[in-house]
Amino acid sequence: MSAEASMALGRQAAMAAAEAAHASQADDYLPGGAIGTTYLPDDARFVISRGQGARVQDESGNWYIDYVIGAGAMILGHAHPAVEAAAVEQVRRGTHFFSLLTGPAMELAGAIVEASPAAGKVTFTTTGSEATFYAMRLARTFTGRPKILKFEGAYHGAHDYALMSSSPPQTSNYPTAQPDTGGVPEALNETVLIAPYNDLEAVRRIVAEHRHELAGIIVEPIQRILTPEPEFLPGLRRIADENGILLLFDEVVTGFRLAYGGAQEFYGVTPDLASYGKIVGGGFAQGAVGGRAEIMALLDPKQHRGRELAYVNGTFNGNPVAAAAALATLRELQKPGVYERLNADSASLRRDMRTVLKRHDLPAMVLGEGSMWQILFAAAVPRNYAQYLQADMARTRALDLALLRHGVLVMPLVRRNISMAHTGEDFEATLKALDAACREVG
Ligand code: PMP
Repeated sequence: MSAEASMALGRQAAMAAAEAAHASQADDYLPGGAIGTTYLPDDARFVISRGQGARVQDESGNWYIDYVIGAGAMILGHAHPAVEAAAVEQVRRGTHFFSLLTGPAMELAGAIVEASPAAGKVTFTTTGSEATFYAMRLARTFTGRPKILKFEGAYHGAHDYALMSSSPPQTSNYPTAQPDTGGVPEALNETVLIAPYNDLEAVRRIVAEHRHELAGIIVEPIQRILTPEPEFLPGLRRIADENGILLLFDEVVTGFRLAYGGAQEFYGVTPDLASYGKIVGGGFAQGAVGGRAEIMALLDPKQHRGRELAYVNGTFNGNPVAAAAALATLRELQKPGVYERLNADSASLRRDMRTVLKRHDLPAMVLGEGSMWQILFAAAVPRNYAQYLQADMARTRALDLALLRHGVLVMPLVRRNISMAHTGEDFEATLKALDAACREVG
């Protein structure tokens, strides 16, 4: 066992001076002391100094087993030697040029087209949010129709068309969208229609009524931690085809995670457009949209520009450092047996966690598919957002925070990801921490 692996996990003592100073800078300079929407209570909060494999270390020297793993982006773990070498080499050649062709970006474009059944061509973005934003724009341009159907509880990023009924406090009056943030012009509400996940009948009903104005259906193939029932994704494909609308997969999470070919390969359903992020940046900021060549032709800058074409552009799109790191990542992921091992290890961890929960007689379940997991205090496996909302969130959050205090890095109420760097020792330590956490919240 390595020295790191044998170390006690989680905060062992009060924050050292340097970490405490950074925590107080966070409070002074960031709204709510937070980057993004995650804020941890004082006794669970820490400032990261480094990541190595499946573990991160805080500035006071404590180690945590990381299941956030860069929101799923770091599928090989932190500081993977091959990724580091590829990125450093490109850093030496220049980190950024803007909108000009580079070798790494071209090779990555080829790798995405090869991996993604939907992608005849691909365009780069800098984030996953942009990837869904542009996929929606492409669908609207291609069909000449203004509206997108999305599912209640699905997260497609932070833009105005995505933050619609992604986490409503109450379930929707389908298909009316509820914005999740202030600042969305009311006129946009009508451009997004909402349906319950895993409910083909509801989708059929809404599509029948709105087909003349619907450009596409966007879906997270695995919606947060909710898995699709066997007929759901093929059913969406059929409904889209029957009504002449496009099917958009948000593969920001599932792309290169569920399988090398993402959810498209895992579930055997090919959308018209697929949005990527996270893993496709190799640990740097990068996203992509792939799609049927005739749709992607709307981005051809040699054509006359105007409203009949769609616009995609961004200063850092196709960044060569991100592309080099992503290529190195994809090379590792293409080695034989990678996904078999990742998904089998993850299934074992979920099974062992269930055993721990059962031993404590807790009414909680372990959800997940592929290399994702989440523990939820619920009476039954939720099939949609409305059922998910019925879970005991206070108790779920308490267990998540207890896990964090025991050195298992999870964000409360957020899906967890396993990386290729997680070892049997990590899983054993995780189960021990879960055991202790269960005792505390039981
Ligand atoms: N779609 C999905 C399914 C996501 O999980 C995320 C990010 N968590 C996004 C889109 C947005 O990606 P980004 O945060 O890179 O903008």
